[in-house]
Amino acid sequence: MDTQIKNSDKKIIPEVPLKSLETLWLQVGGTLCNLECTHCFISCGPKNDTIAMMTLSQVEDRLEESESLGVKDYYITGGEVFINPEIFEILVAILRYGPLDVLTNGTKITAEKARRLREIQNASAHPLRFRVSMENFEEAANDAIRGKNSYSKAVTGIGNLAQAGFSPILTITRSWEEEQDGEMKLQFIEFLRANRVPQPQIKILPGFMLGKLAENERPYNVEERVTQACFENFDITQLQCATSRMATGEGVYVCPILVDNPRARMGNNIEETLRPFPLAHPACYTCRVTGMTCKSST
Ligand code: SF4
Ligand code: SF4
Repeated sequence: MDTQIKNSDKKIIPEVPLKSLETLWLQVGGTLCNLECTHCFISCGPKNDTIAMMTLSQVEDRLEESESLGVKDYYITGGEVFINPEIFEILVAILRYGPLDVLTNGTKITAEKARRLREIQNASAHPLRFRVSMENFEEAANDAIRGKNSYSKAVTGIGNLAQAGFSPILTITRSWEEEQDGEMKLQFIEFLRANRVPQPQIKILPGFMLGKLAENERPYNVEERVTQACFENFDITQLQCATSRMATGEGVYVCPILVDNPRARMGNNIEETLRPFPLAHPACYTCRVTGMTCKSST
């Protein structure tokens, strides 16, 4: 799904400045995933190789560049990052530069892998953190969105991470009314406690009407886009695209949400992306109305 912006509308499309480059995302898993969630905003799956996995060498190129540009922390995502055959080498490489948050569906984290992750963490001065995505604390509701057996595999992965001394943050795409957040949060925290996660934390994310969610629910409509007026009482630099960029093996994009949108590709390397970006895509509307950020700290 994409939006054609008419010339007459261009003047009202706000631009987000790059306030400072604090965070670098890396699309380490590309669009390959062992799951095929019904809401995946870049339609990842076992056969989707639209965005290739990053090689260790490609990651290292971006890391070298990021250091000179003052990047403070790193996030990796996909697809599923643990499908990447060089994932452990990539983790070690990134941790030489700064703190790292790994976004994963958790289903590939065996006890042996979790032990190796612990060794990697113990050898690094920077923190290695995990965010495991699920949909529900009830198996049937979870698997209806993420596929058969995804619940049991993710629970095993979370348990293995906890056993290795990690406290994965559970990330959930909201599939209920926002007013129910409080009640749902309590149940997710209880679920993590029951799985022996030392410091239970959760993060609820809005759904983006892109990819599979656009197909299975609805795409954005023409009213759903931002204008200058949207930022009269909202600091535009709160958007994550004011402080981060997304590196792939095939160029650098403005953000993780638009990583499969050619218009969001800003350059071949990070240096070429150090400029404002026009918020012309309807997904920007979701960021604005939810105050959404993909980072862990909110
Ligand atoms: S939402 Fe995450 S786990 Fe599900 S298909 Fe997409 S990348 Fe894979
Ligand atoms: S989708 Fe969100 S993070 Fe990406 S450019 Fe738009 S406002 Fe920024």
